[in-house]
Amino acid sequence: MVGNMEEKITVNGKDYLLKPYRDYGKNAIAKLKGDVIYIKLPRHWNSELAWKIAEKLKNRMITNIGKGITSSSELTFYNVHEVTVLGQKYAIEKIEGENKRNRARIVENKILVNIIATLEKHKKKEVIDELVRRSLSRELLPRIIAKIDELNDLHFHSEIGKVSLRQQSSRWGSCSPANNISINFSLLFLPQEILDYVIVHELAHTKIRNHSEKFWLLVGKVMPDFRERRKWLKKEARKELTKIFNFPNPQSSVLNCQTMI
Ligand SMILES: [Zn+2]
Repeated sequence: MVGNMEEKITVNGKDYLLKPYRDYGKNAIAKLKGDVIYIKLPRHWNSELAWKIAEKLKNRMITNIGKGITSSSELTFYNVHEVTVLGQKYAIEKIEGENKRNRARIVENKILVNIIATLEKHKKKEVIDELVRRSLSRELLPRIIAKIDELNDLHFHSEIGKVSLRQQSSRWGSCSPANNISINFSLLFLPQEILDYVIVHELAHTKIRNHSEKFWLLVGKVMPDFRERRKWLKKEARKELTKIFNFPNPQSSVLNCQTMI
C-alpha cells in the first residue's frame, strides 16, 4: 500500500479509503478525515521501511476506529471519571435515565451528565463529549479571559477582540488580525505554565504577526523561559493528553497535533 496505491478497508461495517503518500518531514503520520485515512510517509525512507510503517499505522488506525477513537482533536470523556482543569479537580458523573433530553451541569467539583439511557453507545459517547466540553468551556472561559487580560495589561496593552476556547487538532492557539484570540481546549488539561506560554505567544502576535526573530525576542522579554515551555508543548503535550484521555499510544497514528506554535 505504498506509493499511490489506494486501498479500501471496512471497519465496523463502514468503508474507508486508505491513501498513502510521500512527503517531506521526519515522521510518518496517519490522519483520518471523513472516511479517508491519509498516511504520510517521509520521502527519504526506502520503500521497505515505508511499507512496514504504513502497515503498522494502518493497523493502528483500524484498531482506533474500531474502538471509536476516530479523531485526534477530540478528547473523549466517555471513559474518564475525573479531570484536572486549571489545577481544579472535577469528577465526571454520567447518569443514565429516562430523561427527555441530554444535559450537563457543573455543581461544585462535579460535572453531572444526564443522558438518555436508550441512546446507542456511539451516540452516547458523542453526547457526553460534547456536553462535557461545552460545560467546561462555559465554566472556564471567564478565567481564560481574565488571564489574557492580566497578561495583556502587564505586557502588551493591545486591544483584544473575542476570546474563545476551541477544540482544534492543528493548533494550540491563534490570533486573528482583529486580535480575536482562540485557545485550544486541550490546553486546559495541561500545566498552567504551558497555557500561559500559549497566551503570551498569541498576545505577542497582536504586536508582531509573524514568527520573526523580533517576535521571539518579544516573547522572551515577557517570558524568559519560554523556550523550555515551548519544548514541553512540542514534546510532552500529546503524551500527557494521551495519559489523561486513555488514548492508545502517544506517538500513534491518530495523535496528530502538530503545533503551529
Ligand atoms: Zn504563532
